[in-house]
Amino acid sequence: MDLLRRIIDNDLCLGCGICLAALGEDRGRLELQENGYYRPLALPTTREADKTLRAVCPGISLRGDGRQRPLWGQTREIAVGWATDADLREKASSGGLVSALAIYLVEQGICDAVLQVGPREGHPLYNELKVSRSREEIIANAQSRYAPAPMFPHLKTLLDQNNDSYAFVGKPCDVAALQNFLRLQPSYQPRIKAFLAIFCAGIPSYQASRQAFGQAATKAPLIALRYRGNGWPGHFQADFEDGSTLTMSYEDSWGKILGRQLGTRCKICPDGIGLLSDIAVGDAWLLKDGKPDFQAGVPGRSLALVRTERGSRWMAQALDLHYIEKGTVDPADLPLIQPYQWRRRRLSGWRALPLQCRTRFLLRFKGINLMRHSLSAGLLTGLREAVGSWKRMRKVQEK
Ligand SMILES: Cc1cc2nc3c(=O)[nH]c(=O)nc-3n(C[C@H](O)[C@H](O)[C@H](O)COP(=O)(O)OP(=O)(O)OC[C@H]3O[C@@H](n4cnc5c(N)ncnc54)[C@H](O)[C@@H]3O)c2cc1C
Ligand code: SF4
Ligand code: SF4
Repeated sequence: MDLLRRIIDNDLCLGCGICLAALGEDRGRLELQENGYYRPLALPTTREADKTLRAVCPGISLRGDGRQRPLWGQTREIAVGWATDADLREKASSGGLVSALAIYLVEQGICDAVLQVGPREGHPLYNELKVSRSREEIIANAQSRYAPAPMFPHLKTLLDQNNDSYAFVGKPCDVAALQNFLRLQPSYQPRIKAFLAIFCAGIPSYQASRQAFGQAATKAPLIALRYRGNGWPGHFQADFEDGSTLTMSYEDSWGKILGRQLGTRCKICPDGIGLLSDIAVGDAWLLKDGKPDFQAGVPGRSLALVRTERGSRWMAQALDLHYIEKGTVDPADLPLIQPYQWRRRRLSGWRALPLQCRTRFLLRFKGINLMRHSLSAGLLTGLREAVGSWKRMRKVQEK
């Protein structure tokens, strides 16, 4: 069986499209499937093409530099931060730190534009890659979109159009995809000046979004869709052409619908915290009774894991130039503030084990100290996770 078939049949494809950028976008296509995810089709299956696919595909290949020993990865600083612009802070997912940093990078001339995800013009359900060149464009694409994002199929064409430089914002697997591509095509490396990652628990399909906004009484066309933001964490909100609106709390939309429909690759994901980025940003939840409080009713706060020397420099300059404001957080509280990611870092190795055995080690997650953290979870817990994962894998195979 060719490699692409193995990736897709084992539900490891993330629909990112970087394989097309690497193999030639005219040598295949990325198509939206009935299940609400994108999949590449008709790619070449020669030995050479398989070699490229293996190296570039973030579904199976993720390469760190080995310095990610601590549980939260390499960090020069762990801070809480938010955008100084109060409107941006209000609109954004958590504190608007990602957007504020992106604006800083463009306005201070560190890059020409930002590559990020945003809604497709006139089709609010669907996402696409955006090239944001101004504060207004970056803010227009703020907020988390809990749905697939075909980031890269036309990346090479975009990079070949001119000599612009970019900051990249994406999920940890998007960062891994782009870095895999840059390793294969190093002439493009100087063009990507910054990697900003958002924390990620998994990507639900478009079907999950349809299920959420399908709860509205109206059958009128959708004209706008927001998953969160406008408050922290804000509401899921769908606006329809007939003027009606459906809103749902974050707990109901993510907790009961979106977060329950994730693919295999997300369930075994070894990096939801942007281990390969310059700066990784998540929610700095306030705690109530030792648990994240989703109803604290305070302005949003982002958690920043600053990983590289240049990331540290940008944070300091963005603070000096009043793009961002900062607070402190006790790193010892991180397992409570981000319990899902804390568990995942210790359990993903176990969760991947049955799939590794079945596929004869198709996954190559290297240099992120996966083994070390898996061992710290303990044998009994680990085996329990592996069995759960094996059962889920059987279900996928039976479909
Ligand atoms: C699928 C998904 C899962 C998430 N899981 C977690 C989690 O487990 N823990 C946690 O703390 N936070 C999670 N988040 C929220 C995310 O971490 C917040 O976006 C982060 O706190 C940054 O907030 P901000 O206010 O600084 O970002 P904003 O200033 O609002 O900017 C958000 C940025 O994310 C980009 N973006 C939005 N949707 C996508 C997407 N689908 N793919 C790639 N890029 C996108 C936007 O283009 C924008 O640049 C998730 C977000 C998504 C999209
Ligand atoms: S590179 Fe992306 S789109 Fe291509 S097979 Fe891998 S995950 Fe899927
Ligand atoms: S959970 Fe991991 S694999 Fe899934 S979308 Fe998020 S970063 Fe990518």
